[in-house]
Amino acid sequence: MSKSIKHHLTDDLLMAYAAGNLPEAFDLMVATHLSLCDHCRARAESFEAVGGQVLEDQAQTAQMGSDALAATMALISQGAPTPKPAHKKCAVLPAPLQDYVGGDVNDIRWRPVGMGVKQAILPTTNEATARLLFIPAGAAVPDHSHRGIEMTMVLQGAFSDEVDHFARGDVEIADQDLEHMPVADISEDCICLAVTDAPLKFTKLMPRLFQPFLRI
Ligand SMILES: [Zn+2]
Repeated sequence: MSKSIKHHLTDDLLMAYAAGNLPEAFDLMVATHLSLCDHCRARAESFEAVGGQVLEDQAQTAQMGSDALAATMALISQGAPTPKPAHKKCAVLPAPLQDYVGGDVNDIRWRPVGMGVKQAILPTTNEATARLLFIPAGAAVPDHSHRGIEMTMVLQGAFSDEVDHFARGDVEIADQDLEHMPVADISEDCICLAVTDAPLKFTKLMPRLFQPFLRI
């Protein structure tokens, strides 16, 4: 399945994840991608191994006291565990997301945000927002830009925007310079996980009316 993934996580994100430095919403994004992507999971494991080795080397050369060494080893062991691959091939939501939703797609409590698009905000700490997005087959998400980073990962169906075509497991990382309008493929309704670290600002008048409902 993951052989078809074209758009992956960056080294920065994987390192921050391995170090346990990400806001909860981004942590969830990385964990969800890793559960679908052998390529990124292998990279994440290598970062975790390198991080542990660096700390061990430092401990030896600095001749740290036993307390400091114990504290360091405790930190390493607290590092984010690398998620196991998704077992149930039939599930739309990978395990890390199922924990937030309390089930699979049928358990998502959608709220309409206009033009057939629906979303479900997931409960995370408030430095960043995680939400599931439902885009009807062939429909578009309002043209928007954002003040911070926006990451979108496809869970079902696929979408295209000005950048490329994105299918299950693909992650689009958009910074504030990208104004884009994702359009779902006509063949299937598209479900995505979207994570943002600042509120989106919509660039057209009509969608702006929907922003209060999006609560992001
Ligand atoms: Zn990947």
